[in-house]
Order: sequence, then structure tokens, then C-alpha cells
Amino acid sequence: MDNKLFTPGPLNTKLSVKEAMLHDMGSRDTEFLSGVKEIREELLNLARVTIEEGYDTVLMQGSGTFGVEAVISSVIPRDGHLLLITNGAYGDRIGDMAKAYNIKATTLSYKENIVPPQEDVEEALKNDGSITHIAIIHCETTTGIFNNIEQVGKIARKYNKIYIVDAMSSFGAVPIDFKGFGIDFLISSSNKCIEGVPGFSFVIFKVTALEGCKDYARTVSLNLYGQWAYMKNTDQFRFTPPIQVILAFQKAIQELKAEGGIEKRSERYQQNYRLLIEGTEKIGLRTYLKKRDQGYIITSFLFPEHPNFDFTKFYEKLHQRGQVIYQGKLSDTNCFRIGNIGQLYPADIEKLVFEIQEVFEDMDVTF
Ligand SMILES: *Cc1c(COP(=O)(O)O)cnc(C)c1O
Repeated sequence: MDNKLFTPGPLNTKLSVKEAMLHDMGSRDTEFLSGVKEIREELLNLARVTIEEGYDTVLMQGSGTFGVEAVISSVIPRDGHLLLITNGAYGDRIGDMAKAYNIKATTLSYKENIVPPQEDVEEALKNDGSITHIAIIHCETTTGIFNNIEQVGKIARKYNKIYIVDAMSSFGAVPIDFKGFGIDFLISSSNKCIEGVPGFSFVIFKVTALEGCKDYARTVSLNLYGQWAYMKNTDQFRFTPPIQVILAFQKAIQELKAEGGIEKRSERYQQNYRLLIEGTEKIGLRTYLKKRDQGYIITSFLFPEHPNFDFTKFYEKLHQRGQVIYQGKLSDTNCFRIGNIGQLYPADIEKLVFEIQEVFEDMDVTF
């Protein structure tokens, strides 16, 4: 039996999703191309937008970061100016990209337990009329915090800025009102809440926001406009597509629909989250974030203060019991993380909580 992955991805997937990969196909195979077509339509359905309303989607080889980088390096003109809002490692990674491509960026940087106040965003836009784009992370997976993409989107619209949202770890499990929030580009990947296997990312976007970007790309392989222009009419990739990953994703979307769509998946993850919090509170563990800011995707827990606690040992002992948790990623606080996403059900969370308790007893860590 495979381990249970309480991580932010890759995640446990359904057997049917893994089985969908048991094929060899060429990249022009009609069955494959109809799979790509279906995926592109279903992604728009999940975002509750349509081609007719002026939205489209493009798939990009590589993990989620490649999708984010495709957007950052393809949609901001040479004289553009990015306002980056960050409160964690994934936001900071966008800053690294802007730097690598010499994109002018103003950064609003916050501590990892702070939801960036929308007033600051408005003030930054008022102070500098040269800003053209705004980028923010929805669920900052560093901590599991949910950022206020709706309020920031309102401001982006008020000031007529292009709005980029990294919804990598939330899309498919957290309802996002694409149109209502005024999103221009949203990025997510195959191996998070849609529960496919890793290998590509996708960008959902407003067509008018990408149309003018033909000459902005700083790379060949991550050229979002180029990929879209090619895929739009043919459903083909410019370069070798991850065939099996895409077949798995097609199945994963069918499974998401069978589960009852975003609403039901969201309910399952929320139930996982509640059980996790109840169980770990009983043990005596404390969370890093305030409850009101904490999302239900992944939770950061403070290390117990007991001298016998050693994260590596704790991790190893849980691993031996088939439970894989995730290390922390905070700049100044010792934490570990537990995710609720993927093929995890309430019984899996209860088992994890039980095993954590046993491991603490074993390590003589008391609260
Ligand atoms: C997972 C994730 C990414 C992408 O990470 P990859 O390792 O490239 O898949 C980007 N942003 C957020 C918020 C994420 O959770």
C-alpha cells in the first residue's frame, strides 16, 4: 500500500486516474487531442467562464512554477511594472522571476501570518501610476493562509490593472468567482486539488489580456501567447506533451465531477480540516496562523516545545507508519505542515491523528 500523503502535492490519486496512464499514444492521436479539448472546456467550466464571454485556457508542460513563470515572463511588456503582494515563499518566487527577467517590480511584503491589507494595495497604486500588473497568491501554501483575492481584485479593477492570481493549491477545491473577482490570469497545476498527477500547469485567462502580448515573451518554451496560438485551433502542444499525465488529468476531472464538483470537494477537504484541528487540539498541538486566516488546504503547526521533540525523528516515525507529513517553510518559526487535499477522507485524518499521538508517546513528548 502506498503511503498517505498529507502534503501540498504531489498527492494521493485515485486508482482510475493512475490507470488512465496505461497507454502509449502519439501527440497527434485523435483520442489524445479530444482529451485536451475536453480538459480545456472543463477547466473553463470549473472557473465558470466561457469562450463566448471572452475567456480561454492554455496548458503548459512542467510543474506549477513553469505556469507561473510562463505568465510572468509572457504578459508583462518591457516597460511594464509589476506590483507583487507576498506573504510567503511562493509569492517571493514570483519576485525571483521578475528579477530574472528584469521586470520592474514593487513588492508589498508581509510576514507569513498576515493577510495583506487591501488598503496598502490601493495606496501603492495611488502612489505610482506606472504600475501595470498585480500578482498575488490565493492560498499561500507556505502557511496555508487564504489571501483576500476578491478585495484585491476589486482594487485591480478600479485602477484598471492586469490581475494575476496564483491559485495553484486552491483551484478545484475553493470556489473562485473568476469574473466577479476581476481575474485576468489564474494559474494552477495538474497535481493539486484536481487530483491528477504532476506534469503540467494550466492558465485560465481573459482573452483580451493575452491578445496584445504576442511580442512580450522572454523565452521560447514558456511563451504563453505562442502556446495559446498553437493550441487554440489544434488542441496540440508546440513541444512534446506529457501524454500520460494529460490522460490522467482528463480522468481526474471526470472524477471531480462525479464527486459533485468544486462544492463537494471543498466540503470533503473542509471536513478533513475540521477533524485535523479537533484531533490535534486534543493532543495539544498549536497552529501557526489565527483560525480566521487559516484555509482548509494545508495547516502549519508549531513544533511542540518539549525537549524530546525532534522533527526528523517525528517525521521518520510517522513515515514508518505510512503517514507522510511535510516540513515547514517559514522564515523564522519552526513548523511542520499537514495537508488535507488529494485522496484523503475523514478516516485517513483520524488515523493520522491517532498515529501522531502514538509517535509522541513513543518519543516521550508530553504537553
Ligand atoms: C505548489 C505551488 C506552486 C508550484 O509549485 P511546483 O513545485 O512548481 O508545482 C506555486 N504556487 C503555489 C501557491 C503552490 O502551492
